[in-house]
Amino acid sequence: MGKNIQDELLELVTQIKAHVRYQKDLGIDTLLSSREAPLVPDLAAIRQELGECTRCRLHQGRQRIVFGEGDPRSTLVFVGEAPGREEDLQGRPFVGKAGELLTRIIEAIDLTRDQVYIANIIKCRPPENRNPLPDEIATCLPFLQKQLAAIKPKIICALGTFAAQTLLATEERISLLRGRFYPYQGALLMPTYHPAFLLRNSQYKRDVWEDMKKIREEYLKG
Ligand code: URA
Repeated sequence: MGKNIQDELLELVTQIKAHVRYQKDLGIDTLLSSREAPLVPDLAAIRQELGECTRCRLHQGRQRIVFGEGDPRSTLVFVGEAPGREEDLQGRPFVGKAGELLTRIIEAIDLTRDQVYIANIIKCRPPENRNPLPDEIATCLPFLQKQLAAIKPKIICALGTFAAQTLLATEERISLLRGRFYPYQGALLMPTYHPAFLLRNSQYKRDVWEDMKKIREEYLKG
């Protein structure tokens, strides 16, 4: 027998202290069980890896990175296109006019923003809200994919043409894609119209409501 029990306990306490310090450095100040622990540090670690990103040209015009927000253990994740002006200023997704509508859509299925996770394909605002370019997507998308792998949602709602086409790697129109689930990284992905599109075309709200009902139904299955 090498070490005595006191030495072993001392070593264990030292290791626990080091682990708690590491979690604090990641911004986590609650102790989690070993079953829960890997989920939360992953998101914090992904945010750390992203850093003050300068990997593509979009960093030049941005005010703030919009990483994503909400419940890191949520069953349901909404994915939009890219931050707009208000999101860029606040560093939070969907906080402008389209965001207000998204909040109401989430509440219409008896959930709150805090109970879901909201992110975008692109984390920095493109100049004049132009469409993100292929190299910008290629640079940024891996971070969203890592976020999804960490959260492990059961359902992903892709908001609008851009998110749906990017995640499903298709050029099919949103009007044909929406309304049904597609398998995506172990989750079910439902494309639907983007809230900004709904603000200009309110006649499509009924379709979105149909899509949301399907999401709600799947969500309740647990
Ligand atoms: N539109 C998006 O696609 N994402 C946002 O965060 C805001 C508006």
